[in-house]
Amino acid sequence: MVDYIGVVDVARLIAAVGPGEFIARLADEILADYRRWGDFEKSARLASHSAVGVIELMPTSDGRLFSFKYVNGHPKNTAAGLLTVTAFGVLADVATGYPLLLSELTVTTALRTAAMSALAARWLARADSRVMALIGNGAQSEFQAIGFQRMLGLRELRLFDLDPAATAKLERNLRALPEFQGVRLTRAASAAEACRGADIVTTVTADKRNAVILTPPMVKPGMHLNAVGGDCPGKTELHADVLRMPDTRVVVEYEPQSRIEGEIQQMEPDYPVTEFAAVVGGAAPLRTGGRDITIFDSVGFALEDYSALRFLYALLDENHIERRKIDLVPALLDPKDLFGGTIGAGAQSRRWRKSA
Ligand code: NAD
Repeated sequence: MVDYIGVVDVARLIAAVGPGEFIARLADEILADYRRWGDFEKSARLASHSAVGVIELMPTSDGRLFSFKYVNGHPKNTAAGLLTVTAFGVLADVATGYPLLLSELTVTTALRTAAMSALAARWLARADSRVMALIGNGAQSEFQAIGFQRMLGLRELRLFDLDPAATAKLERNLRALPEFQGVRLTRAASAAEACRGADIVTTVTADKRNAVILTPPMVKPGMHLNAVGGDCPGKTELHADVLRMPDTRVVVEYEPQSRIEGEIQQMEPDYPVTEFAAVVGGAAPLRTGGRDITIFDSVGFALEDYSALRFLYALLDENHIERRKIDLVPALLDPKDLFGGTIGAGAQSRRWRKSA
């Protein structure tokens, strides 16, 4: 039998732990895994593009455990009442190749993306950053807000979305959380207005094109940009000139994947970037002063899902939540008798006897 974690299980876990605590602890796991970057097998994800979206597979392994995530991105889905991003994933034992865990990763992707964003900001943003603009107020946005509030401490959050109903939903959800009682929530009339006075700007919009959410006049010296929504070829959020601003330093997760999918797909192949693993490994101090502009060009890397799957597994046990089991793989008395042990006549009568 294979362990199974569904949406209900993740919701129970979050209810027990709290979303901020979950994100902060997951960020620690992700950091620990980035610190052993060399242990991981790395590849750019496999993407199947269509006119309306993308379906991707994201594998990695550290030689003991293998993981992969299935994830889609379909910005027009919400108009049909469907999520833009859904995901599930598998953790497997490298020694036997057996899957150990099949898990929902839709909610967990939002949690891990927030964990990674806030973690990157901790390393890159000015230490006194307290005001964040949050542009794109859809499914990911509450998670981003909670992650930044928990890990950096926000005084003000400035919200903007083309869809006012999305902003109203975000504001309603955040106001209901105790940790946001002391945080000023401001609705802005435009992305430019949201950016005014912000120390950090998070862009988490969905549009399958080279959108221009941020232009150079909106970006001020000392800002940290957390660019989350541009994560596919032909799908970006920053005007290319933002990447050309003086004293701009760009951090990516895994350079070969980010050159294809990140904001830096707009730049020449030798445009300088630093991988996050090098930042946390101490090889490259990124911010050299209060006027540097730092950009986390987030696309999402398989290592973060590996960390999330392992963390989910451990948390279930810690919170005494019983693991559900599914019969994804046959359990056989004779491993060479797959037929007889599953669909052969003997197996059927055994099953009938068992269930009688
Ligand atoms: P969503 O569709 O639920 O929300 C996106 C929001 O962006 C919508 O409310 C939409 O109205 C708004 N929007 C679109 N264009 C805009 C514009 N020009 N200005 C302001 N708002 C605009 O999608 P989601 O699940 O929240 O995902 C957001 C994005 O994040 C997607 O592009 C997704 O692919 C990406 N994503 C990235 C990662 C990562 O690791 N980097 C992980 C998950 C999702």
